[in-house]
Parts: sequence; C-alpha cells; structure tokens
Amino acid sequence: MITATHFYNYTRCPRKVYLDFFGDAEKKLPHSEFMLSRFRIGREHEKDVAKNIKYVAPEKTAKDEEKFRQTVKFMEQGASIIFQGVLIDKDFIGRPDILIKVPGQSRLGDYHYEAIDIKVAVHAKKQYIMQIMFYSSMLQKIQEKMPEFTYLILNNKSKKLHTYDYMNQYAEALVEIKNIASGCEAEVHICSECGECPWRDVCLEKAEKEKDISLIYNLGRKSKELLIENNIDNFEKAADMDVDLLKNIKGLGEASLRRWKTQSRALIDKKTIKIGNPNLPKAKTEIYFDIEGEPDIDIEYLFGLWTEGEYIYFLAKSPEEEKKAWKGFIDFFKDKEDFKIYHYAPYEKNALKKLRKKYGCDEETYRKITNNMIDLFSVVKKTAVLPLYSYSIKDIAKHLGFEWSEKDASGGQSTIWFTRWLAEKDPALIDTILQYNKDDVLATEKVKEWLQDLE
Ligand code: SF4
Repeated sequence: MITATHFYNYTRCPRKVYLDFFGDAEKKLPHSEFMLSRFRIGREHEKDVAKNIKYVAPEKTAKDEEKFRQTVKFMEQGASIIFQGVLIDKDFIGRPDILIKVPGQSRLGDYHYEAIDIKVAVHAKKQYIMQIMFYSSMLQKIQEKMPEFTYLILNNKSKKLHTYDYMNQYAEALVEIKNIASGCEAEVHICSECGECPWRDVCLEKAEKEKDISLIYNLGRKSKELLIENNIDNFEKAADMDVDLLKNIKGLGEASLRRWKTQSRALIDKKTIKIGNPNLPKAKTEIYFDIEGEPDIDIEYLFGLWTEGEYIYFLAKSPEEEKKAWKGFIDFFKDKEDFKIYHYAPYEKNALKKLRKKYGCDEETYRKITNNMIDLFSVVKKTAVLPLYSYSIKDIAKHLGFEWSEKDASGGQSTIWFTRWLAEKDPALIDTILQYNKDDVLATEKVKEWLQDLE
C-alpha cells in the first residue's frame, strides 16, 4: 500500500521509501526518543485542534476497510467535518486529519470535500504539502472532483493552498514512488537527514563499503549526480580527480571541486589537512556562547555562556519568560569591554537578530555583542579539512576527544526535555537542559583551542 508517509519520506530522501518497501526490517533501528516525542506532540496537537470542532469520525477500533466504508458514508450523507477518516483507492490508503465539506458539484451532490492536515510546525514544508496533495488526489477519485484548495493547520496559523499550484510536483513524486515501489532502487545519499533516520546504520555501512561520494562533506545530490556522470563515483576517484577538467561543467564550481578533492584525501588518509590559518583575534575576555531554542513553539529558552571558568546562563522557563531571559543576556554585556564571543554556526547570530526585532534592546550593547561574535564553524572551514562526514559541533568536538555528559544528547533532544518541562515541571529536566548547554559551550571552547593550536 502507498501511504502519505511515503510522500513525506520521498520528499526527505527517496531511499527511505525504497528501504521501507524492501529493506531488512530487522536492521531498521527503532525511532529515537526525539522522534517518538515529535510523534507524541503531533498527536496531542491534533487532539487540541479537534477539541474545538464538531465532527463525525469512523470508529477508532474498526479496520481500515470498515473505516473507509464509514468515511464514504459520512461523505455521502454530507457531514460538515469528518475527523481522521480513511480514504482507500486500489493500492493507496490515506488518513487525512480532517475532511471539510465545501460547496461545488461532485458525484456526492452540490458539495464536495477538501483535506486539512494538522502539523506541529511553523512553516508549510514541502513534505506536508505532498501529503495533503496525496489526500486531495484520493478525494478526486472518490468524489469525482479535484478539491480546489487544501489546508495545513500549523502552530499558530493555518495555510490555504491552491492544489493546482502543486499538481506537477505531486505527479512527479507519484511516478517516482510508484517506480520505487516496483523495485527501482533509490540510491544512498548521506546527509543531515540521515541523523534521525532509522535506516542510518544500513545506509552508512553501504556508503562506506562503496566509498560513496555523498560521504564527502557538503556534496549535495545534484553535484553527486554530475560527478557520477563524469565517472567520479567514489571518493577514491574524487581524491584524484582532475579539477581543471571538471571545473567548467555547469553546476560544478572550481572551489567546491578543490574542497571535495581535499576532503576525499582526508577521508582516505584519515588525517586532518590544514588549508589555512584561523587568525583568531586576541581579547582580554573570551566567552563561549550557545543558544537552545525550539522553533516549533518559536522560543529561545536558554542563553548559555562559558567565560573565565564559569557557566552563566539566562533561562526562560516558559514562553512568557523569554523576554526576561533576553534582557538578562543583553544586560550582561552592558559594561563589558575587550571581549570576543565564540559560537558555532549561524544559529546564535540569527536568533539574536530575531529577538532584537521581537523585543527590542539597547542598540549600543547589541552592536557591541554582534560585532564581537566569531563563528568558529566558518573558521574551521577555512582552516582545516577533517576526516569526517559532518562538520557539526558534535562531530568535530567528539573527534577532538570531547565527551558530552549525555551520550546521545543533541539540540533536538534538548527541545524534548524543554517540551517535557513545560508539561511535567520536573526540575530534573531543567538540570539536564543546563548540563547539555554547558557541555555545548565547553565543546565550543575545545574547538577554539584546537584552532588556536593550528596557528
Ligand atoms: S539513512 Fe540517509 S540515505 Fe539512508 S534512507 Fe535514511 S535518510 Fe536516506
């Protein structure tokens, strides 16, 4: 059976669809605590939305065929809202959160239905749109009319989408998914998506065995295709590729090719290759900085700083406290002079920009802070090529010997602890969040010290 999940997964990684059909289920890892929590939060959000509407729904305990029969019956009776109905058409089965009756002739009468899906998200991502397009196309078969609109209920808003705008994308995805379902193998592509994927061990083993070029850091799917077309189909070949020969191919820039070539060499030799100087500025006070935020509820809940052997933090224990934490953070720098703030990747700078817009602040202090921020991720990239598949702070600091107190901790995991804190108010969760953030700023210090040694 093809389901909406296949469309979701196809948008993220076509191989996921392939492995879900044909992979060895015993090698599929269980969902991480992070993913299980996302699913739970999703179900709670659906319940919250449903609380405020009057609807009919098929019997919860019924089998899918029976639920489908009941859903069609509700549609034929002209029910205003059908909650968690089931749509079946040959090998397709869809479970839209809501079907809503709207005017417009169909085989049902002078009305038809449009699909609504409920998501814990701020934006209408492509994978969600493909899912509701799937429901819309199933509705077309059942009611003999393509719904003109479809909707996503997100965290604080809903999004109305014109189905005709997405018809081509949907049709392309459908063809590809049918091909995969009939046995056409989708290739491995190691990328950030793999981190939470239950097939990650299977794919990594295959990619390493084949020296797949997607293991080269920052090599996207399109570039991979172009390199393979030019017979560079593993990273041993990439390490020896003739950049001058390839650099004029549209889509392959010289700088990227040189970087991938060096990256391949680092992977083969399992050695770091120095390519520049970090040129870190001197300052009386060095500060290491990391923010924890939960984009799905639009909050930056923790500003953590490590300076002169002390961990200092500004914590918002609820969305209402975010403004206070922000103010505390800004005030900390009011009288500070001659300092540098080290952070990793652009998240911190973007978050400060967003909070300044949201709450305002002392402009002079804000400028002082942002003018003294140094993104170590940028410094790493111009200084060294590491024998790693990813340049995340976790991968780099672990490679340098740093260990997090919580073995499987991640930014995503921290958001789960925070979401649980909001619901359960268990102080132990706050301690865990703080420890994780403290480890992050210490890891940032570790990376900075390593860079300094490369001067
Ligand atoms: S591990 Fe990566 S390549 Fe493999 S299926 Fe998952 S996302 Fe795709």
